[in-house]
Amino acid sequence: MKFPTRAIHAGQDPDPSTGAVIPPIYMTSTFAQETPGVHKGFEYSRTDNPTRQKLETVLASLDGGQHGLAFASGNAATDTILKLLSPGDHVIAGNDLYGGTYRIFENVWRHWGIDFTYVDPNNTADFKPTDKTKLIWLETPTNPLIKITDIEAVAKQKGDALVVVDNTFASSYLQQPLALGADIVVYSSTKYLGGHSDVVGGAVTTSSDEIHERLKFLQNAVGPVPSPFDSWLLHRSLKTLHLRMEAHSNNAQAVAEFLQGNAKVDHVYYPGLAHHPGHDVAKNQMKRFGGMVSFELNGSLNAFSKSISLFTLAESLGGIESLVCHPSSMTHASIPRDIRIANGVKDNLLRLSVGVEDVDDLITDLEQALSNA
Ligand SMILES: *Cc1c(COP(=O)(O)O)cnc(C)c1O
Repeated sequence: MKFPTRAIHAGQDPDPSTGAVIPPIYMTSTFAQETPGVHKGFEYSRTDNPTRQKLETVLASLDGGQHGLAFASGNAATDTILKLLSPGDHVIAGNDLYGGTYRIFENVWRHWGIDFTYVDPNNTADFKPTDKTKLIWLETPTNPLIKITDIEAVAKQKGDALVVVDNTFASSYLQQPLALGADIVVYSSTKYLGGHSDVVGGAVTTSSDEIHERLKFLQNAVGPVPSPFDSWLLHRSLKTLHLRMEAHSNNAQAVAEFLQGNAKVDHVYYPGLAHHPGHDVAKNQMKRFGGMVSFELNGSLNAFSKSISLFTLAESLGGIESLVCHPSSMTHASIPRDIRIANGVKDNLLRLSVGVEDVDDLITDLEQALSNA
């Protein structure tokens, strides 16, 4: 079945006891057992919960994977994947990375003896593993410079290392990392999967039984699980993922083209623009170019942020409403300034999460804010 059909039907049959078309939210921590060890497949909601299980079924189905796991946040999912490693192991990651992922790597896991190297996301050869490399961590498109890494090319040279793709910016609808050779896909479902800026969550998918079992063990042992209500909200959101991603991509393309011709804009980062260095790879591995556009402002940042009205100044992304973020003081403030600047994240960089409002209204708003900047 095609993606939209799976988004709407996977993991969702009418409730057998009442016929409810939308399965109820199982707000329960524990489950009755008939005799010790005899139950209907659920014992305790840290281990498993029917609402979460339905969400996990859809997540796996949308990624073309065998298994899905839902987490309390994207960072909880990332942290659980890192627990697959042992002291002395080495990780290669792109140098344009979600700030919170960098913080987990450097300020949590380095302390436990894991070594990290950061390389140019555009340069496939830099991701070549050494004998110590156990994980290759890709984020594509990257945050906040919207760089593109060729997933298939990196997967071809992975040797014994596992390839993890943070697919948060593209979502399952625009990019299918497992089919391109990745072993694990990780999401902040807070972003496009959730899509309405009302829930924090994370997800992991894989087609490996062994990886799934290990992650499921760690998830149950440590406990970073989402509530039944959050699981239900996410499941509800996934049913419109394909519609939203088409609309985000249409609007972002128009916004990027508008920005490119504006005198107050120095540089526009969007893979849908022909001059973008990752344009051809993105065209190959993504269905559309997504909803994230970054640009360098040639003007007053304060005046711009005071004038802009439809784009809310806030962290996060991927919701139906448009947001603008200043990475160097917000999402990427946890990266030391010299490293951040060396990686290309300048102080005048703004990142737009282009929502699904009317695109003419969005462009009119940007136009007036830029003229005031
Ligand atoms: C937000 C984000 C995360 C972290 O997810 P949380 O749900 O905030 O914990 C990880 N990766 C990317 C690319 C993100 O944008």
